Amino acid sequence: MKTPFNDLKREYKSIQADIDAKIKAVIDNTAFIKGVYCKEFEDDFASYCGTSFCVGSSSGTTAIHLALMAFGIEKGDEVITVSNTFIGTTEPITHAGAKIVFVDIDEKTYNIDPQLIESAITPKTKAIVPVHLYGQMVNIESVCKIAKKHDLIVIEDAAQAVGGEYKERKAGYYGDAACFSFYPGKNLGAYGDAGCVVTNDEKAARQMRMLADHGRLSKYEHEMEGYNYRMDALQAAVLTIKLKHIDDWNNSRKKVAHFYSEHLNKEKVSVPYEDPDSNHCFHIYCTRVNDRDSVMSKLKEKEVSSGIHYPIPLHLQLAYEHLDLNGSDLKNTEKIAGEILSLPIFPFMTQEEIEYVVESVNKVV
Ligand SMILES: *Cc1c(COP(=O)(O)O)cnc(C)c1O
Repeated sequence: MKTPFNDLKREYKSIQADIDAKIKAVIDNTAFIKGVYCKEFEDDFASYCGTSFCVGSSSGTTAIHLALMAFGIEKGDEVITVSNTFIGTTEPITHAGAKIVFVDIDEKTYNIDPQLIESAITPKTKAIVPVHLYGQMVNIESVCKIAKKHDLIVIEDAAQAVGGEYKERKAGYYGDAACFSFYPGKNLGAYGDAGCVVTNDEKAARQMRMLADHGRLSKYEHEMEGYNYRMDALQAAVLTIKLKHIDDWNNSRKKVAHFYSEHLNKEKVSVPYEDPDSNHCFHIYCTRVNDRDSVMSKLKEKEVSSGIHYPIPLHLQLAYEHLDLNGSDLKNTEKIAGEILSLPIFPFMTQEEIEYVVESVNKVV
């Protein structure tokens, strides 16, 4: 049975009338840039996250750049993060002028290992960018404790963790700011590129709002040079509709994940560890298997889509060759890269598909 990795069409069909009406309203009002639809989403999303402010952006990557700039990260600074992530985590560190410093991950959660952070801190360290990978928040209390001790900024990369929680609080509660991506395939996906930053810091929110819109707050007055990093109103309108469903959709993802974890052959497949302090929103259901590439190709023969998040850690990418990190201490990061395998997970999967994935994986491992 052909089982896709994700199917955004099913999601659209389930909310088509609302989406179509909202898009039409934006067009009827020709309110394409800034304006009411952007403000509506920003207000709704801030309240969803439990933060005072939300600043819309053109993507998750630009959201991280805005946050780093607003909190004063600049040339000469060092920023600590992980290597098993999408390059959108680290590009903005370079764009802010800072140096990327990778630390290794916890082998159980695949998230940053807080115990390794302190040894990576130097007098130049200015910030930590923890990544809530696959939708499971990092041990953010430990990260923030270390940050506080060393007077560091914490910018959470929550691109994969819309709706994820740590001790019942969402990203943005713990760090100085949290950045989200609304890339279409993310748990809360726009119909194009979009992102945002949430924060409780009023001054930083003002700064990000300006930086995202050519350094201005009013139409003709530019306090500084900025960027064109705005979220557009059509995306905001789509996201406003979809935000109402995100908790239901995340719960459906969780049901799929728990079915997998219960029924996969755990002698052959390691299923995701769920930190009891963390409410995992399962953007990705990441397993580990021996002989991963052969498992993947056998699944393909059975028409079960699978993925690898991510096959080449950033420190081994050509883009970061100049950092000369080959043979570094990122042992867990390198080890899991050859074993991880992501299985299909999305809110509108049928029970038949879910069972077929389990049956197929158990057969080929
Ligand atoms: C998707 C993603 C980003 C970048 O978001 P874009 O909206 O694609 O720019 C950054 N970090 C992580 C962990 C992501 O998954």
